[in-house]
Amino acid sequence: MSGEDKQNDRDATKVVHAGRRPEWTQGIVNPPVWRASTILYDDIAEMRERGSADTHHKLYYGRRGTPTQWSLADALTELEPGAQATLLYPSGVSAITTALLAVLSPGDEVLLPDSSYEPTRAFGNGMLKRLGITATYYDPLIGAGIAALCSARTKAILMESPGSLSFEVQDVPAIVAVAKARGIVTLLDNTWAGPLYFPAIEKGIDYTILSCSKYVVGHSDVMLGSVTAAPGHYEKLRATTYQLGLCASPDDAYLGSRGLRTMDVRLRQSGASGLRIAAWLKTRPEVARVLHPALPDCPGHDVFVRDFRGSAGLFSFVLNGGNDGARTALIDGLRHFGIGFSWGGYESLAIPADPQRIRTASRWEAEGPMIRLYVGLEDTDDLIADLEAGLARFAAARG
Ligand SMILES: *Cc1c(COP(=O)(O)O)cnc(C)c1O
Repeated sequence: MSGEDKQNDRDATKVVHAGRRPEWTQGIVNPPVWRASTILYDDIAEMRERGSADTHHKLYYGRRGTPTQWSLADALTELEPGAQATLLYPSGVSAITTALLAVLSPGDEVLLPDSSYEPTRAFGNGMLKRLGITATYYDPLIGAGIAALCSARTKAILMESPGSLSFEVQDVPAIVAVAKARGIVTLLDNTWAGPLYFPAIEKGIDYTILSCSKYVVGHSDVMLGSVTAAPGHYEKLRATTYQLGLCASPDDAYLGSRGLRTMDVRLRQSGASGLRIAAWLKTRPEVARVLHPALPDCPGHDVFVRDFRGSAGLFSFVLNGGNDGARTALIDGLRHFGIGFSWGGYESLAIPADPQRIRTASRWEAEGPMIRLYVGLEDTDDLIADLEAGLARFAAARG
């Protein structure tokens, strides 16, 4: 199959075939686990040759990967039209922190959205600050207005769209245009939509980041992250990654590859069930607002309609009045929604969400406490019945 034919394949086809190079699979359907630390060479000449500048995709030493990791990395690159290459990380957080370290130096400033994933903010306020790098927070809905925040010290802009917990959809093309005009590097935490629903490199992003622990792995049993780089941005990332000694284990990469094959169909089902539940919640008197990018209540909904190809099954809703105790009554009695962090697996989850705790650049005001839901692959009617009973508990506790 030529490269051109492959580019024309649709997403469901791509996730089935991506990264399965015959030299890595030897004909085995799912790329097998190649575990290694030591790699033995036939002679010194071979050792030197493989150790030379371009050791990409040549067995050299375990930390540089084996066909198991290369295959998943390659697959993620194939899913991002226009991308150069992908590297894997032991978690989504290490993917984010390594990408930032690759592009920032002491004295630089990075702009982070006020709706950042909390550990991203902790890195900005912690290690980046210690290294003499300033993290400045911006309103996630700022769009082209971000130009006013850019100075000669601004070297990178991170986006996360939609935002963690509160789901503001960012105007990525507008921010990218401002950044490109000023030579500022752009990074996107694209975990929610992933490459299937938001092809980020095509939209001008320089580094697109995934927590593969979510939909790529898809079974809540592996920590894994990835960064996919646009042409011209990969070498820097690779150098920083190697200097930090980071690598993902072949066993985890194997599970990532295995999950990827069904990602399109899982994402579709989770997204459709999530949207149905979000629309149902919107009709309930106990619910003040549903923050789901595909619904008009969500800030940035118009941008979502313009830029995204679909929605993930992760969203929040704000309760009408009540306090933390009433919210707890709702969540504690749920039968089908587990109480736990992360998402993207086959099972539904619910957690209390309180964005006001960490905001510094924008205000968060709500009619009552908020809950974040992840909708998995259970029957949607069962999930709705569970939530209906939960809302009754909430209403009784609220009084
Ligand atoms: C989960 C998540 C991360 C962190 O990924 P881990 O694999 O848990 O380290 C980063 N960003 C977003 C948006 C996430 O949902």
